[in-house]
Amino acid sequence: MAKPTFSLCVYCGSKPGDDSSFAESAVQVGQWIAQHGGQLVYGGGRNGLMGVVADATLAAGGQVVGIIPQALVEKEWAHQGCTELHVVENMHDRKRMMAERADAFIALPGGIGTFEEFYEVWTWRQLGYHNKPIGLLNLNGYYDPMLLFLNNVVKHRFMDTWQMDLIQSDTDANRLLPGLIQAAGLPTPFLSQSI
Ligand code: AMP
Repeated sequence: MAKPTFSLCVYCGSKPGDDSSFAESAVQVGQWIAQHGGQLVYGGGRNGLMGVVADATLAAGGQVVGIIPQALVEKEWAHQGCTELHVVENMHDRKRMMAERADAFIALPGGIGTFEEFYEVWTWRQLGYHNKPIGLLNLNGYYDPMLLFLNNVVKHRFMDTWQMDLIQSDTDANRLLPGLIQAAGLPTPFLSQSI
């Protein structure tokens, strides 16, 4: 199997949300990863947007690494079609392995599990535990209220602007994805290929 050009960790909802355009964008993200020779790293489930992004990556010929805690194998309906499916002991092992396997992270719309994972890699980055790019795909303004609140955190000086600047937020996956891969410092000749 060819070595992937990059590994992108995607955090997103284990539910599909109320708007079919979320799933359409999740498909685009999966296709983009596959078409650029990349590898998806994600939570290993079939439910919601998580399943959609994995299916889209696989259908477009890409590689998928799923990492799921034993206790969630049935609840999140572990994706047996993954190129690699790792069943780990607990959530901490899952999140550590996802972070280790990724060159960059991106959060799509999701719920508290998605937020928790996104905030964890962000806090790890501000502490210097890693130096990997972190993106927020703000589809249809889904994350507008969160970004508003985060700017309020800066205004009240519980966070500095440099901390905000550690995340890249964009409404357009076609801008955000190459930006993240470039920021990861990988060789990127594959980015100039038209898809
Ligand atoms: P959600 O965004 O809530 O639909 O969850 C998305 C993913 O995050 C699912 O795979 C959940 O298993 C995972 N998740 C839920 N709770 C946590 C947590 N406390 N820490 C890390 N991941 C979680």
